[in-house]
Amino acid sequence: MRFVIGCKPGEVELGSKGHHVAVIGAGPAGLAAAGYLACRGYNVEVYDMMPEPGGLMMFGVYDKRLPRENVRRGVEELRSLGIVFKLRVKVGEDVDLEDLISSYDAILIATGTWATRRLKIPGSKLEGVYGAQEYIVDYYLWKLGYRDQPPPIGDRVVVVGGGLTAVDACYIALDLGATEVHLVYRRTRREAPAGTREFQELEKRGVTIHELVAPVEYVGVEGKVKAVKLVKMRLGEPDESGRPKPVPVPGTEHMLEADIVLEAVGLRPTPPFKEGRDYGIKLNPDETIYTDECYRTTREPVFAAGDVKHGPSLIGHALRSGYEAAKCIEAYLEGRIGWTTH
Ligand SMILES: Cc1cc2nc3c(=O)[nH]c(=O)nc-3n(C[C@H](O)[C@H](O)[C@H](O)COP(=O)(O)OP(=O)(O)OC[C@H]3O[C@@H](n4cnc5c(N)ncnc54)[C@H](O)[C@@H]3O)c2cc1C
Repeated sequence: MRFVIGCKPGEVELGSKGHHVAVIGAGPAGLAAAGYLACRGYNVEVYDMMPEPGGLMMFGVYDKRLPRENVRRGVEELRSLGIVFKLRVKVGEDVDLEDLISSYDAILIATGTWATRRLKIPGSKLEGVYGAQEYIVDYYLWKLGYRDQPPPIGDRVVVVGGGLTAVDACYIALDLGATEVHLVYRRTRREAPAGTREFQELEKRGVTIHELVAPVEYVGVEGKVKAVKLVKMRLGEPDESGRPKPVPVPGTEHMLEADIVLEAVGLRPTPPFKEGRDYGIKLNPDETIYTDECYRTTREPVFAAGDVKHGPSLIGHALRSGYEAAKCIEAYLEGRIGWTTH
């Protein structure tokens, strides 16, 4: 996987432009931006809270779909350009964003969507009920040797959701040794963000797919989840997403046994802010970072790109967004664009 855009190692003198840029987040958006800016002669330092760069390409996407050696090769190429990685540093906790703003000529926030939206139904706090993304990240931390134990697993796993996170959670449950994996989705596979092909692949691997059902309660024994109470749904008029809105059918509640439940019902953007602060950086109603057409936030000289700016998407989209933002950073540092007040 290539993140170096526009030059080869040895072709460019790092720092020849004299400006220093901090990139926060080493996923595809941050890496593409770092690769472009280093090629243009800027000093680039990349901050990431994880022990290794790559973002969800390293700690999220199913590894049989995206081999980790490809990501590592791309990162090594960035290092050979002279880019410095500051790992295990969580901006907002270990370092304050305000300090970075005063220490660099430009900042790019590319911190993605690292929190699972949770269903707030009775039983959500039972042992064995997890946010799928956090579970998947823990799985790769273990698989890549950064954790001693894998996340807890049981015989029967129920995954809730219809996107790529739900699909990957099913594969990981199987790889961890679950004997029965059930995917429950409130619409049909035709409306699922993951697409019908992914559902067919899951069925080939033995996953049971339950369409038009939604959890209404997690039922536990001695504090540990034992079953999911589901209700059948029917499809109604289109909602704000343009897809038919699932509507519960009263009197259709039924139980599905579960040792582990993984909720994959959406991801939340995670800007690197200390609790209670916004640094003058405006957020959109869906919590993504507001920017103008040139990736400028409402705080000079802070830019934003990738999923934290446009919401959960795909690797290609994040790469492109990081590259486009880097071109805007270059234009800003060269004085070709200024800062608009939004
Ligand atoms: C389970 C799963 C499977 C997926 N499968 C696919 C797929 O098959 N194909 C595809 O194209 N897309 C897939 N995607 C989507 C794709 O991975 C993302 O769209 C893409 O990685 C987003 O890139 P990004 O650079 O914006 O953010 P991320 O890749 O999320 O990277 C953000 C980085 O920021 C770091 N970070 C966050 N907060 C802080 C902080 N406060 N301080 C320091 N560092 C911080 C994180 O550690 C991370 O390294 C999948 C997503 C998930 C969750």
